[in-house]
Amino acid sequence: MRNPGSHRAADALTPPPRAAKTARMATGTLHIDLGAVRRNWRALDRLSGGAECGAVVKADGYGLGAGPVARALAAEGARTFFVAVASEGAAVRAAAPDARVFVFSGHMAGDAASLRGHGLIPLINSPEQWRRHREALPGHPFGVQVDTGMGRLGLQPSDWAALRGEMTGAALAMSHLACADAPDDPANDAQLRAFRAMTEGMGAPRSLAATGGTLLGPAFRFDLVRPGIGLYGGLPFGGAEPVVRLSVPVVQVRDVPEGAGVGYGMTWRARRPSRIATLSAGYADGLIRAMGNRARLWAGDRAVPLAGRVSMDLLTADVTDLPDVPEALEVLGPHQGVDALAEAAGTIGYEILTALGPRYARRIVGT
Ligand SMILES: *Cc1c(COP(=O)(O)O)cnc(C)c1O
Repeated sequence: MRNPGSHRAADALTPPPRAAKTARMATGTLHIDLGAVRRNWRALDRLSGGAECGAVVKADGYGLGAGPVARALAAEGARTFFVAVASEGAAVRAAAPDARVFVFSGHMAGDAASLRGHGLIPLINSPEQWRRHREALPGHPFGVQVDTGMGRLGLQPSDWAALRGEMTGAALAMSHLACADAPDDPANDAQLRAFRAMTEGMGAPRSLAATGGTLLGPAFRFDLVRPGIGLYGGLPFGGAEPVVRLSVPVVQVRDVPEGAGVGYGMTWRARRPSRIATLSAGYADGLIRAMGNRARLWAGDRAVPLAGRVSMDLLTADVTDLPDVPEALEVLGPHQGVDALAEAAGTIGYEILTALGPRYARRIVGT
């Protein structure tokens, strides 16, 4: 598949050692740079001034591996982690034995054994959860999540007013911002005022900011910030270092005549005699169907457009303008980060990351 004029693109994509092993994998290689995760945490920690910088590792560390991420960040100095549900806590506890691990969804029915067994701290969201927690795990640490306007999770103001007197000794009082990625949105200040009013005088450490809130300024940072996406290289932390690279092998290359169709529905038609590369990854691997005919792949420094719909296990790209077709094309890399790919697919970097499937060979670097 190579010709002498293409050393540059080919070299850029030359697989690292142990390629023989990964070549047997069907859908390509996902490089995860834990060194970059550590540097992103360090940068957010520095930016947070006096506030402690925690780390959100829900959804298996935004798809990159909660265990390895938590281990790397604990080594870097992170002491507080957040997961979405109790069942995610075990991997984090194993990776960071001395850390505090909070659970956003609080204390749901059936959680007691896991909360106790792994020493997890539920963030109580409702009067029902508070009753359950006191009955099932009296004396076990808890935090409080209040709803300051997002309308999703947390005690509502009336419930909080009624329970506040008995919910003493909380390890953390927190709330979540709905519009932190839009700094000028008036909802940010409204939620800040509501959070202050609801938590003033409680005596518990407080936390309001995720990645976006951390960047809104010191007023939003309180005692602890809880970045997630910024650690993994995504917006709204523009200063983040990219964490992932993804290359996908070419299965087959074909020449098609002008007018030929490609893929399901033949939504792509050759406007000239064309060369089509078929790659071994698809929407079952998180390369969501909305990318079809919109996103680009990269051969070294050269972009090639997807041609046609994304299939479950395959992609097709128009490689007519490449002097030669490398053995793999890059989906995520120096020329296209998670947010650029997300934009082409009409979504956000969070969804691209968390969708990355289990079939990739995962290469962790920079532990
Ligand atoms: C997901 C989440 C975070 C982290 O958000 P990012 O935007 O990824 O930084 C923080 N707090 C809560 C409650 C969350 O659900």
